[in-house]
Amino acid sequence: PVTLSVRGLQKIYSSDTGDVEAVRDLTFDLLQGELVCLVGPSGCGKTTLLRCIAGLLEPTSGTVELDGTKVTAPPKKMAVVFQEYGRSLFAWMTVRQNVELPLKNAGMGKAERKAAVEKALHAVGLDHAAGSYPWQLSGGMQQRVAIARAVAYEPEVLLMDEPFAAVDAQTRADLEDLIRTVWKDLGVTILFVTHDIDESVYLGERVLVLSNSPTIVQEDLTIDLPAE
Ligand code: ADP
Ligand code: ADP
Repeated sequence: PVTLSVRGLQKIYSSDTGDVEAVRDLTFDLLQGELVCLVGPSGCGKTTLLRCIAGLLEPTSGTVELDGTKVTAPPKKMAVVFQEYGRSLFAWMTVRQNVELPLKNAGMGKAERKAAVEKALHAVGLDHAAGSYPWQLSGGMQQRVAIARAVAYEPEVLLMDEPFAAVDAQTRADLEDLIRTVWKDLGVTILFVTHDIDESVYLGERVLVLSNSPTIVQEDLTIDLPAE
């Protein structure tokens, strides 16, 4: 079934100096459980698109629907991981507390929270680091914490905006493999945005290739994943 439906999405930024059309007439569906990569050059409109999907930015025209309901504000069923993981974690909270915070804010009970945090930290291989503070961890580990926090609430859709652009090549390869594992273990639908074609083909079951700004879907490719 279709989880996320984007129809005729357009976003124009207006200012005194003129209009910038960042996204033009973008249409695609995400099926439940898919891992789809969106790839396109820097400045082509990827972040704009992701923010519109996440309900953080209002499109100029077109619609985004999650399970048939129009997205007008950030839905609980969606979680986002941005590139700037460092800034998104609270330095004065332990890893466990960081992951737990959104669950607490959502009013989840204590026992349920504890189980959800443990499951999320386990999914990203950070069981041992629950009591550490973010600043005690490497960049790659911090990004794992951000991923754990995003999946702890068991979102239906996980949106990722160039999440590994700021880490070194080896860490990045590890994190890419981690995303595959998380995807398989948790059965979450993932939309992964990147400017790196290699990364998109490595990770995605399906790759949507975006054109230059304003962004449109140029190609929709199915990737044959290696048998396991
Ligand atoms: P940077 O992000 O370093 O400024 P670019 O955004 O120009 O550089 O390109 C980054 C990567 O995106 C390159 O690996 C390039 O092959 C890829 N790329 C460039 N144009 C496209 C396109 N139209 N669609 C998808 N990927 C592209
Ligand atoms: P990408 O994520 O692919 O690098 P962006 O969505 O960040 O692309 O940007 C797409 C285009 O929209 C670019 O030309 C950028 O300069 C412009 N843009 C992004 N954010 C704003 C904004 N807040 N106001 C005006 N123009 C913007």
